[in-house]
Amino acid sequence: MSLPTAPQHPVAWQVQSAVRPSSEFVELVARSGAQDVGRCYQCRKCTNGCPLASEMDLKPNQVMRAVQLGLQQEVLGSRTIWICAACQTCTTRCPNDIDIAHTMDVLRQLCVRLGVTPAEPNVVRFHRLFLDSVRRHGRVFELGMIARYKLASGQLTTDMKLGWELFRRGKLNFLPDRITGTDEVRQIFKETMERTA
Ligand code: SF4
Ligand code: SF4
Repeated sequence: MSLPTAPQHPVAWQVQSAVRPSSEFVELVARSGAQDVGRCYQCRKCTNGCPLASEMDLKPNQVMRAVQLGLQQEVLGSRTIWICAACQTCTTRCPNDIDIAHTMDVLRQLCVRLGVTPAEPNVVRFHRLFLDSVRRHGRVFELGMIARYKLASGQLTTDMKLGWELFRRGKLNFLPDRITGTDEVRQIFKETMERTA
């Protein structure tokens, strides 16, 4: 089901979207750490300040409304939760002190945990490869991660010019940096995985 874009009024959007509410989803989102969503009254300050709103299928205020309505499929299937850059602008602007950026993070985690197919699979690949690089090397090894991402995504020739510029300016090393504490970093990953399994 596709949601209407740019609704004129939140109530109109509620009617148009053929609501299939799930109270379990509302509770799940709250239990997972986004407890303030119910305070949203659709002033849209978050959306008006979001630098990526034009790229989103659901605007940040619409995500808040959809969560309130328990629209699990629409929220977890949206591109928005993966496009969000966690810049915190929305959170800073919200008059109700709702941590919208954190809510987006919670929704991303739920998407993965519930096995929902992400609307932006390359973003998920990037996240996984970034974290795996940190786990292996203690910090990200940019060149290795880029190579793995390109192979995984099939985007072999995109951003070649940008990559060359980074390399030319010494921003990309051939080998990973050696740092102290790599074992401790691996242990953090191990314990986190055990705790969330
Ligand atoms: S945190 Fe995400 S939703 Fe909020 S303003 Fe930044 S990009 Fe937009
Ligand atoms: S700024 Fe806060 S209250 Fe206003 S629409 Fe966004 S989340 Fe809701």
